[in-house]
Amino acid sequence: MTTPTRLRNDVRALTTLAERDLSKLWQQVTTAAAAQQALNDTLPALIETYGMAAAALAADWYDEARVKAGVGGSFRAFPIEVRDPGAPVLAGWALSEGKTLDTARVLVAGGVQRRIANAARYTVARSSIADPRAQGWRRVGDGSSCRFCSMLLGRGAVYTEASASFDAHDHCGCSAAPAF
Ligand SMILES: [Zn+2]
Repeated sequence: MTTPTRLRNDVRALTTLAERDLSKLWQQVTTAAAAQQALNDTLPALIETYGMAAAALAADWYDEARVKAGVGGSFRAFPIEVRDPGAPVLAGWALSEGKTLDTARVLVAGGVQRRIANAARYTVARSSIADPRAQGWRRVGDGSSCRFCSMLLGRGAVYTEASASFDAHDHCGCSAAPAF
């Protein structure tokens, strides 16, 4: 199966594992200062580890989707480098302005989900741009998209620029798929 659903489910499974790691972290902190310290120590490696796994899954998925679409040539998708995905910024923002630890926990989980999903999205998007047999990439919804995403999906655009960004909010179920 090379549907976007399979990749989405695989990436979701990685997010669940990351959330499990995070819940252990939250159990060990009782103050904002301790949370900040623990997040600073943990988040960069956590996002990098699961982000790289998501990128690797996405590259494999791309290659399989390519074969299934009957696209010729020897192109291989490449996982993006997941480096400096803004983990300190996320931690600082989640704990800023006297937010409670419960609020911070929700915000961090959302930010981590978006960063892991982005690793897969940008792997597919950049490989689609680099692939001489692909026209570019398009946005694919998960069947329960919000108004913002439904509007973007409705455009049905095929993005052909390497610089095109993937607009996504926390917990967004949208993914990228190659347009062959
Ligand atoms: Zn949305």
